[in-house]
Amino acid sequence: MSIAQQLYQLQEVDLELAANQQQQARVSGQLGESQEIVRVRVTLEAGRQRLEELEKQQHTVEWEIEDLTAKLKATEENLFGGRIKNPKELTNLQREADELKARRTQLEDRALEVMDQAEATSKNITELTDELSRLEAEWRNQQEKLSTELAELKAAHAKLSDERQRLAAGIVPGTIEVYEQLRLRRGTAVARVEQGTCRGCQITLPTTELQQVRGGGLVRCGSCGRILFLA
Ligand SMILES: [Zn+2]
Repeated sequence: MSIAQQLYQLQEVDLELAANQQQQARVSGQLGESQEIVRVRVTLEAGRQRLEELEKQQHTVEWEIEDLTAKLKATEENLFGGRIKNPKELTNLQREADELKARRTQLEDRALEVMDQAEATSKNITELTDELSRLEAEWRNQQEKLSTELAELKAAHAKLSDERQRLAAGIVPGTIEVYEQLRLRRGTAVARVEQGTCRGCQITLPTTELQQVRGGGLVRCGSCGRILFLA
């Protein structure tokens, strides 16, 4: 096997290693908490607090209504009981009863309003709870898949690293160094020669260079400097 072919194989493995690392980074980035789930949890918690608040309001209004009803009952007993005869006192009692009734009607309206709000909030909580369960199930499923994918990528990476080590061991250190420097500078160190052209920079190679490449030596493109490989 020519040195160019060995280096080309090394490059193939290095490209696979780089792609593998990119995929690992992508998968790792998707592992972890979901922003959407966090958002739904926060909204749900706010909804629960709101419902609690509305239920408290509802109880307060109900107590006030009970209180007013008791007062009204006492006032009406005085008014219609026949014990009080004084017309002025009766007129006052009548006014008091009317005021209590008006106040109670107001509170009853308020109680209905609060009840409607509590019902809507409760419905919203049910919907959010369902959505959260769905999102969490989806998320767990996705995380499991991602974990499996990551484990597979790591295993593939280990295999490729071994392969790289094996290939590199067969190449003299000085040549590996040239290869590494080219990789840093050019992205890829080895370029295929196709139809007399360097595929690294698309320049047509001079005949002498082509002959040298065919001879199997370590030849670098006069234009881009990459190591030339003729398949
Ligand atoms: Zn070139």
